[in-house]
Amino acid sequence: MSTYGIIGAGITGLTLALRLAHDGNNVQIWEADERVGGAIRSDRSEGWLAEAGPNSIQDSDASVSDLVEAVGLSDRLQEASTEAKRRYIVRGARPVLVPNSPLNAISTPLFSWKAKFGILGEPFRKPAADPLTDESLASFVRRRLGQEFLDYAINPMVGGIFAGNPEKLSVGHAFQKVKALEDDYGSLIKGSIGRMRERKRSGTTPHRKRVLSFPDGLSELTDAISRNLGDRLKTGHRVVEIVREVDSGYTLHFDGHPSARVHHLIFAGTTHSLENIRFTGFNGAPDALAKEVTYAPVHSVTLGFHKDDIVHPLDGFGVLVPEVEPFRILGCLFTSSIFGGRAPEHHATLTTFIGGMRRPELTELPDEELLDVVKQDLDALLGLFGKPVFTRIFRWSKAIPQYEVGYGDILKRMEAIENDNPGFEFAGNYKTGISLDACIRYGWNYKPAIRD
Ligand SMILES: Cc1cc2nc3c(=O)[nH]c(=O)nc-3n(C[C@H](O)[C@H](O)[C@H](O)COP(=O)(O)OP(=O)(O)OC[C@H]3O[C@@H](n4cnc5c(N)ncnc54)[C@H](O)[C@@H]3O)c2cc1C
Repeated sequence: MSTYGIIGAGITGLTLALRLAHDGNNVQIWEADERVGGAIRSDRSEGWLAEAGPNSIQDSDASVSDLVEAVGLSDRLQEASTEAKRRYIVRGARPVLVPNSPLNAISTPLFSWKAKFGILGEPFRKPAADPLTDESLASFVRRRLGQEFLDYAINPMVGGIFAGNPEKLSVGHAFQKVKALEDDYGSLIKGSIGRMRERKRSGTTPHRKRVLSFPDGLSELTDAISRNLGDRLKTGHRVVEIVREVDSGYTLHFDGHPSARVHHLIFAGTTHSLENIRFTGFNGAPDALAKEVTYAPVHSVTLGFHKDDIVHPLDGFGVLVPEVEPFRILGCLFTSSIFGGRAPEHHATLTTFIGGMRRPELTELPDEELLDVVKQDLDALLGLFGKPVFTRIFRWSKAIPQYEVGYGDILKRMEAIENDNPGFEFAGNYKTGISLDACIRYGWNYKPAIRD
């Protein structure tokens, strides 16, 4: 029987390990930290719940619910409130509702009339002369939908998802489905209608996307997977050297623990951690990738207030801030409005993201100054009276990998390393998409492609 080894017990590594175990493989997974989950870390204390990293999963197919069922958590799934369908973007220094119907789209103050007519003209614009050119997201959106749509829709959205810069992100690598609409139909609007018609013709019912979590946060999922894995999982095991054996297979050396040998090895850690691993006998240099992938630094600040101390009704998912507006935060989630049980009665939690590729220097601020920036911006946007009664700051100096223009070359180098070192494979948010949904979809549908 083949032995699979997985490095890293974030959601990607954990899901992969469970898939391989369910399929009857002999699998072992090692995590450097004493806890599992990687970016997922839920902090529950005295009626408050703060997520250090991701706050929710948006499922785009059945993979998430299948995984949740497999670990016996189906009855713990928590779906976002209906209220959370409302989203705000800042325009004119105040939160403006994002239109959610064609009628609202006409009357919304989020875009000028000029921009609205510009959007209506999208189907008549020519597609890119060469679809193979790796274009930035900003250039793509400017070309198809205009500068104002870039400033007031895409820039804040990208700040919220990637903490990224649309001038640098590659539309083909970071937003493949959007680019495919232009490639396949010549237009985003025509493409969206075309895709809908295709679905109708084929009789497939579209999957109802949900925004999900658990009463005690997303760690419930990673903890449940780790319980299911039992002693196949070892925490506190940092891989410091990987030796590619001449006859086949890999030997892993850890910091202070006995070594292990496997036939197949999947690296589900972060690319920046590659530089702390020695690769012996490898063709190519996996550790060189550490310097190639840019990670955005992002800090997440969760503040709890008495509801009476916030003027805004917090009737939505949250508010995103476009770069052209005079604020320093990237955006703020109305966390206790999205999911129940995140704050004691009569209280509310707000989770604010700060830094990113937009303002990386803000992540260098000490806690007190960081809190001042967050409170000043929240006060101006939502109206705060009192002081927060609950505060949690989570610092991520390397939070989210950026799929920038040229990312295709990095992916090709990863593929070359995989081809030149049979039995070795990369997996993780730097390769298969940054959302939890994408990480789970990859892991849960994994079919060993590894060659001996
Ligand atoms: C602040 C923040 C907010 C986010 N919000 C959302 C959201 O709301 N929704 C969403 O879908 N996504 C969100 N994301 C993105 C998502 O959380 C990540 O893309 C995803 O969790 C990455 O999972 P992963 O398993 O690929 O990597 P990671 O979670 O980074 O896990 C990698 C693991 O490998 C371990 N490791 C590294 N090196 C070694 C080694 N040498 N030996 C052993 N172990 C090692 C690490 O300790 C870590 O546990 C957010 C991310 C951040 C940081």
